[in-house]
Amino acid sequence: MVRHGAFAYTWDLVGDPSAAARFADLGIDTVTLQAAYHSVRATTAWHPAHRVVHADHAAAYFRIRPERWRGLRPLAPTWAVDDEDRFGTATAALSAAGLRAEAWVVLTHSSVLGRSAPEYAVINAYGEALNYALCPAQPAVHDYALTIVQEICEQYDVPALMLEACGWLGFEHACQHEKTSGADLSACARDLLSICLCPACAARLSLDVPQLAADIKLVVDRELQEGIGAGSNLADALGAERAGAIYRHRREVITGLVREAGALAGDRELLLMATDDPQVTGPDVGVGLSGFTPEPAAFVLKCWDDEEAAIARMKAAAARTGVPLVANVNALGERPSELPALAARLVSAGASELRYYHAGLASPARQAAIRAAVQEVT
Ligand SMILES: [Zn+2]
Repeated sequence: MVRHGAFAYTWDLVGDPSAAARFADLGIDTVTLQAAYHSVRATTAWHPAHRVVHADHAAAYFRIRPERWRGLRPLAPTWAVDDEDRFGTATAALSAAGLRAEAWVVLTHSSVLGRSAPEYAVINAYGEALNYALCPAQPAVHDYALTIVQEICEQYDVPALMLEACGWLGFEHACQHEKTSGADLSACARDLLSICLCPACAARLSLDVPQLAADIKLVVDRELQEGIGAGSNLADALGAERAGAIYRHRREVITGLVREAGALAGDRELLLMATDDPQVTGPDVGVGLSGFTPEPAAFVLKCWDDEEAAIARMKAAAARTGVPLVANVNALGERPSELPALAARLVSAGASELRYYHAGLASPARQAAIRAAVQEVT
């Protein structure tokens, strides 16, 4: 039996008494519900009180108990229908409709905190802070991320937490106002610009960090200014030894976070948004799936790009790990009518669960595609 779920925002549910039934009508059994989330502008096609929600900073949608936080603390939302416990209200509505709610938790993506505390942001080789990205090697960020997990687990009876950005965000930001594409940066140069050399990372990397920064700048500048490619990957650009040290550092920090989050979560499942490429930074953390310990309850693999690439990645992941795999599929793509066939192929390739993105954002045609995919794959 394949589990089908869909992502949703709390504001899709809070203040809309018919939303949970509308989601249940998709045929899904699970909703992956926003608990901590970055800024976004989102449509809400059916909500009685609003059509467009502008969440203009990262926020926690669970109840914030001020006494539980030290150092970094998430902000409360001020948009959409006000409710001091939006996550609790939304999970109650889902539960009443017979739906299982899991917490969707974005850990290190917060421009509002990165701006207010730039000392905790990711710092690239040029010494520039990526202020939307908090560095998980910083003890204050580590504490912040774990307090989010702890506060959700102590306050809500959810069976699972899906962890997004449980590591480093890098150069890619997907911000609406990006003006970087004209520089034609290669994937490798972007990954070089994603390497964090903040004091916490510098202290943990067993490398000559000033030399590393100088070499990164040399390679990136050659590409930016002379059009000479940075190389095919970090090992190519920096040498295998230094690339390996960077990957080991990242893996240690990410596994440490997952281990401590798992201890706080007890018997709740941890679903880790991940990729099998240790060079990758972003919402799906780059780790080698093979031998990753502690094992999460599942790895969540993003399958939003080219269908053949997504299928190949799912097959490769299934061959490399015995950990269950959840396919995160995009119902907002160019061809929603192909969603049922894609879902079926992903399950054949090794996925044991599906999560559709996104119940609240999908148009009627896209909702119909989700409904058809649920019926297609049982
Ligand atoms: Zn760092």
